[in-house]
Amino acid sequence: MRYFLKRDACLKWLETPAVYHLKKDELYELDDEAFALLKSSAGEEGCRVDSLDFLGFCLEEDLLSDERSAGKRPPVVSSPVPSLRYLELQITDRCNLKCRHCYIGECAEFHELSVASITDILREFEQMQGLRVLITGGEPLLHGSFDAINALLPEFSLRKVLFTNGLLVSKKSLAGLNVHEIQVSIDGLQAAHDLLRGQGTFSKAMAAVRLCADKGIDVSVSTMVHTGNLADFDEMDHLFRGLGIKDWTVDIPCPAGRMEENSLLQVMPEDGGSYLRYGFGGGIHSSASGFGCGLHLMSVSADGRASKCTFYADRAVGHIEEGLRECWQRVVPVKLSALACDCDYLDVCRGGCRFRAEQAGGPLSKDLYKCHFYGII
Ligand code: SF4
Ligand code: SF4
Repeated sequence: MRYFLKRDACLKWLETPAVYHLKKDELYELDDEAFALLKSSAGEEGCRVDSLDFLGFCLEEDLLSDERSAGKRPPVVSSPVPSLRYLELQITDRCNLKCRHCYIGECAEFHELSVASITDILREFEQMQGLRVLITGGEPLLHGSFDAINALLPEFSLRKVLFTNGLLVSKKSLAGLNVHEIQVSIDGLQAAHDLLRGQGTFSKAMAAVRLCADKGIDVSVSTMVHTGNLADFDEMDHLFRGLGIKDWTVDIPCPAGRMEENSLLQVMPEDGGSYLRYGFGGGIHSSASGFGCGLHLMSVSADGRASKCTFYADRAVGHIEEGLRECWQRVVPVKLSALACDCDYLDVCRGGCRFRAEQAGGPLSKDLYKCHFYGII
């Protein structure tokens, strides 16, 4: 019997050889022998698998099948080190809301990445062995050429996640949408969410969550901790688990953009830190031993600036016209040994969110929200 690599299983050559399952959002590190075997299974003839243990694992994890899967696969070449695995792609900064905590703030003019530019970015990201692209905004569904962008998504072996406020999500907009996951911002239960985002927005966002879940699309939720939603977290946890939410990301908004004018919404580290215990699932801010947050993450803004993450857009490392790889090579990883952090939680906390920490206390300082979360102050 010959076996074939499933269409959703993508071989990637990161710091180690690996296979990434697009639908399951699961990355499996491989040894050289397993990688060679899966590589031959990607060919026209497939391959025989002598090890019954390995075969059983691959069948159970939906990596191999006894049916040939059609279509071209991108080349598997060495990624840069560190690898760029997650890309935040802000396709537009246009939005249909004026959230009181939005880090973008008021825009004198709107920007959009062109379809040609988005195509080039995704192609280069795929060549660099990227895993997941977060298509974001503003509100990404407002991009003037969203249909054209959506049409080109299937040609890339990447997991595509659409990050939306949910207002434009409908049966019609979901029909033919080529993404694996939809991430919706929910900033509290009704009163707290509407306080930030506007009257009636909670029910629309939740309707979007339910619609996506009913359609079998993976749904994740992103929540900001603010002074108006502190009493809501236990109920949100219950609500999101009941709805089968894949990932729930809980974070503290940075005092940037409109949040600077709405500082009463900002929780202090001693009040907000403990709320970082909420949330579940994975995320894109992860790192590797010895390094600070976001070691594998980069962001491209709607005006083409490339930076370590969205919050660092004002300290861009370059413009996307110079190329994604060129910009990525200029991002300097944060070494944990350089930080002022000296606690026992350094390996798990990694100095917290470096942007938040830097804003409050300078480049090497501690993230006080995390210090309170770990109870060291
Ligand atoms: S600075 Fe903050 S937002 Fe940026 S990658 Fe690190 S944790 Fe994420
Ligand atoms: S808990 Fe505080 S001191 Fe410890 S690693 Fe995190 S930010 Fe640094």
